[in-house]
Amino acid sequence: MRCILLGLLLLLFQPAALWGWGQTGHRTIAAIAQKHLQNSTKRKIARLLDNQSLVWVSTYMDEIKSDDRFDHTHEWHWVTIPDGKSYAETKKNPDGDLLTAICRSKETLANKDTSRAARAKALKFLVHLVGDLHQPLHVGNGEDRGGNDLKVEWFGSYSNLHRVWDSEMLQSRGFAYSELARQLQRTINRQKREQWSQGDVFDWAHENLNYRDQIYQIEDPDYMGYEYTYRNWDLLTHQLQKGGVRLAHMLNEIL
Ligand SMILES: [Zn+2]
Repeated sequence: MRCILLGLLLLLFQPAALWGWGQTGHRTIAAIAQKHLQNSTKRKIARLLDNQSLVWVSTYMDEIKSDDRFDHTHEWHWVTIPDGKSYAETKKNPDGDLLTAICRSKETLANKDTSRAARAKALKFLVHLVGDLHQPLHVGNGEDRGGNDLKVEWFGSYSNLHRVWDSEMLQSRGFAYSELARQLQRTINRQKREQWSQGDVFDWAHENLNYRDQIYQIEDPDYMGYEYTYRNWDLLTHQLQKGGVRLAHMLNEIL
């Protein structure tokens, strides 16, 4: 009984453990995307969102987890692709996954015959989901719930690998999302933008498999912090840059 209670307590004290970039990650990606939108796309987005910004709506999909009407979206934040396999070869989640949700949201947003409300919701979903696609542990290996089951100590506090990538590495550097986006924007040039815009969401999902070895290379799970951040900060920030550029590319194409 005590074990069950402890387990419940631990669950209570790790909100958002399963759910993708924390707020800083999502907002940073949205803020970078905003910089790469065409003017006509910006105007259409402003109309659809009643002038709310991409940054503002980027965490909408996490907020609606408190609303029973959106229970069907719980599985859409992640996808499983085991090592050495492709998405096509992987058994699909009958409740949908990150990739099916992105494809469906793109279709809804592109369909001018759909209601404005439905298109606005699809846009909010896309801003969030393209972000999640660039948190490498949202493309899980099918063995540890995207690193959630890999328990670690982060600067002496109970955590897990997924949470380290969602929020804790970002928090440890102490940037506000706006400052982080501004710094990351400085090193995005035309060549990178063109390179990152190649391919489709399936290619971008598979790209995450290349980073697994690095992400799972943990010297001592009971002592994680500075050194792990030092080794992974470039990868983390590149993912935020790519997520922003690709989100903008997608919205420029659709709208
Ligand atoms: Zn998410």
